[in-house]
Amino acid sequence: MRTSEDYVESLRAMRPNVRMGGESVRRDDARIEPGINVMRITYDAATDPELEELFTTTCPDTGKKISRFCALCRSSDDLLKKQKMIRTGARLSGFCIQRCMGTDTMNALSVTTKDIDDAHGTEYYARFREFLRRYQDEDQIAAAVMTDAKGDRAKRPHEQVDPDLHVRVVSQNKDGIIVRGAKADITMASYCHELVVFPTRSLTKDEKQWAVTFAIPADTKNLHIINRATAPRQRKILKAPLNTYGSSDALVVFDDVFVPWDRVFMCGEHEFAGTMALTFSQCHRHSYCGCKPAVDDIVMGLIALAAEYYGVEGKSHIREKLCHLAGTAELIFAAGIAGAVNSTKSASGVHVPDAIYANVGRRLAGESTYEAWGMVADVAGGFPVTMPFEEDYFDPTTRPWMEKYTVRNPKISAEKIHRLQRTISDYLASSWAGVWQVAAVHGGGSPAMETVAIASNYDFNERKNIVKRLAGIED
Ligand SMILES: Cc1cc2nc3c(=O)[nH]c(=O)nc-3n(C[C@H](O)[C@H](O)[C@H](O)COP(=O)(O)OP(=O)(O)OC[C@H]3O[C@@H](n4cnc5c(N)ncnc54)[C@H](O)[C@@H]3O)c2cc1C
Repeated sequence: MRTSEDYVESLRAMRPNVRMGGESVRRDDARIEPGINVMRITYDAATDPELEELFTTTCPDTGKKISRFCALCRSSDDLLKKQKMIRTGARLSGFCIQRCMGTDTMNALSVTTKDIDDAHGTEYYARFREFLRRYQDEDQIAAAVMTDAKGDRAKRPHEQVDPDLHVRVVSQNKDGIIVRGAKADITMASYCHELVVFPTRSLTKDEKQWAVTFAIPADTKNLHIINRATAPRQRKILKAPLNTYGSSDALVVFDDVFVPWDRVFMCGEHEFAGTMALTFSQCHRHSYCGCKPAVDDIVMGLIALAAEYYGVEGKSHIREKLCHLAGTAELIFAAGIAGAVNSTKSASGVHVPDAIYANVGRRLAGESTYEAWGMVADVAGGFPVTMPFEEDYFDPTTRPWMEKYTVRNPKISAEKIHRLQRTISDYLASSWAGVWQVAAVHGGGSPAMETVAIASNYDFNERKNIVKRLAGIED
């Protein structure tokens, strides 16, 4: 398995095809580093005696120890461990652990390639297995590249004014395919090894050119990553772990990219485009049932600590908020547990989390995002967003006043209050906070998409029949 140093080294060796702020940048750019630091957590955890068991597993095919982020979930227990690993990882990074994108993509690929082969006699599953073996052996990171540019939201891919608004195959020959288009919002694109590209929606027989799934190294020729990096504010004096982490998302442009056949996992089988997108979404919404409770853990920690430091611990409105948040966090986590326990074994052997539980958990997570941060804003008071700059706390002229006038609970030092309020400021009022709050709503699919998934899977007629029997109504 790789160490985090090997991982950083592997990025240095990649072709520079990342652009940011109007220039070409290398993958060791300081703005990308906070995202790389989150990935380092996942590599370091694999050798940490306390975390190793959760963050690694044994590949049943090779008997080798592999990262759980690279593993297929072949049982309910595997799904439960993935969910727990994600909650643990997100507690460490202070927000999204990101690497589950690749985990959920591999699981969806396994399910879909096997289903396509069973229906069409193709050889995608064998290709995928070969790809996965390399991916696991080299302990790689893959980005989930699903969200197309999409154009007019009310129109299907074949109805758009420009066919490139969804990634498509423009030509093919005996060696492979040429793809064109762009994918938006792709997390980790600038610090992953592989991009796994798949359709964003179900497709019809008129839309075969868009029914394409493939994996390519992230530095492939004609592939351009237009990156946007975000991180909590840099600290000059009061360094803290949170301020070393961050993330990047990118618009990824495929300007006629060649993909060899051994990396193509769907090409024209339009009826499986929806299967791929939905299976990924179901797996990823299950992952959210691990990471969102971790974010709520942090929200509860911020509120409880602020209450203690401010001298309002135990007040009824604080208790009410904390218990409400505990309820939300653990219900989302419980939905993930139920999704794992009620998972379905696919033909490929991968266990897919239950659709209803994965979707109700993710929907609750998305809808409760701003409610949770609203509670932090309430308890934090105004000072975290009006507090003087860091230097003023240490300037000999202003320091005595800063120390005297920022203390609240007299048992808590001025420095501890300063550290907490600056952290609250990062979480509530930084550009990084804005990105992650929106991510909590839209990542893995907007709440409206979970509503669609619930509406198409939930048996509302059964509920009508319950009432008909109770009311003595006979049809
Ligand atoms: C920080 C962040 C990271 C992300 N990371 C990734 C990633 O790594 N990989 C990836 O593939 N994606 C990623 N995404 C994308 C995410 O999956 C999408 O944002 C999400 O699916 C919503 O799509 P959209 O942003 O295009 O919203 P839009 O489609 O523009 O939706 C906006 C609104 O329009 C509504 N709407 C859209 N279409 C219709 C319609 N036909 N009928 C009615 N209403 C409609 C939606 O419900 C929503 O309310 C990320 C997003 C964020 C914010």
